[in-house]
Amino acid sequence: MVREKILGGNWPEEDPEEDLIGGSGHNAEQAAKGLRGSAETERLQAMLDTPESDTILRPKRISEMVGQTEVMEVLYIAIDAAKKRGDPLGHILLDGPPGLGKTTFATCIPREMGVPVSMASGPGLKAPKELIPYLSNLEPGAVLFIDEIHRLPKPVEEYLYTAMEDFRIDIVLGEGVNARTLNLALPKFTLIGATTRAGMLSGPLRDRFQIREHLSFYKTTELVEILSRNAKKLDVQLTPEASEEIAKRSRGTPRWANNHLLWVRDFAQSKSDGRITLPIAEKALAMRGIDSIGLDRQDRRYLETLIRVFSGGPAGLEAMAHTMSVSADTLEDEVEPFLLRSELLTRTRRGRCVTPKTFEHLKISLS
Ligand code: ADP
Repeated sequence: MVREKILGGNWPEEDPEEDLIGGSGHNAEQAAKGLRGSAETERLQAMLDTPESDTILRPKRISEMVGQTEVMEVLYIAIDAAKKRGDPLGHILLDGPPGLGKTTFATCIPREMGVPVSMASGPGLKAPKELIPYLSNLEPGAVLFIDEIHRLPKPVEEYLYTAMEDFRIDIVLGEGVNARTLNLALPKFTLIGATTRAGMLSGPLRDRFQIREHLSFYKTTELVEILSRNAKKLDVQLTPEASEEIAKRSRGTPRWANNHLLWVRDFAQSKSDGRITLPIAEKALAMRGIDSIGLDRQDRRYLETLIRVFSGGPAGLEAMAHTMSVSADTLEDEVEPFLLRSELLTRTRRGRCVTPKTFEHLKISLS
């Protein structure tokens, strides 16, 4: 049976104590030290922050996932071949904007392989010693998932190189003159890395992934399918017109579709008879400032700032971030990809610019 370790995973039924401190034998102390620091806190916090609905709605198998057919085909072939050979899967890198299914793939793949998975996040691993418990506790064939892998500090990234390539790591025992290095052999494992910025990954790290797949935005029809499946899981009635409207306003992103569905359900239950009809969906989404193509207040503020303060551009990312008091990372990862895709924004060498479509759209939504 697949057993996901609780480090930042979404399976609260497991005993968190069981897998938290994975160190054993010679590396136990370092393992405990490493994990009891920021990584542990961050992972536990992530677990506590995971809404229950996310656990219900997240597909458990690849066959339950909708869209991304090309990625699925590649993964099915790789999984099938690895199983036939009796080998672990090669390392996999998934990139794409937030909410498109990177974590979902990373949790479904181990289930298909019948192996356990442990989960870590790039910024949570501040030093190589924090990676040791994850690596030294791997079972043969197991999956280690590192989210936001582009944010791994350089020394941690370099520490991963030999683990990924040769399945070995060096562990320093003791300090000062008594320090000695132990070369520890690891079982063959699969690293799944997820990133919203494939371009920020160093060449040596990127090249160590045998499979590199890009997740793209979903079509409205695919989001309609996800919404109707999830309405069933939540046991709410959702009309086809309402489903289409919610999908159109979900920025091609399943996470947005799910969040909208949960809010519209609450609205329908509080203000009406619980059925999600088109007028109910429209009212509920308008109340949250979601416009006809799915832009929210922050997206529109971005475009309005670019027009008002920078005369439509070009403007640099940092200048936009300062003016809006929002981090540059948030703008680049969460706001800009959909605006670019919607042709409401262009990125030139001199900076960000609005397009004629931006004026058209804002006029409509502002009137
Ligand atoms: P990412 O890791 O890329 O930020 P997630 O994998 O956490 O995104 O996906 C966010 C949510 O969207 C998941 O909880 C899941 O319910 C839903 N989701 C993502 N991809 C799919 C898919 N292909 N089919 C159905 N639901 C999906």
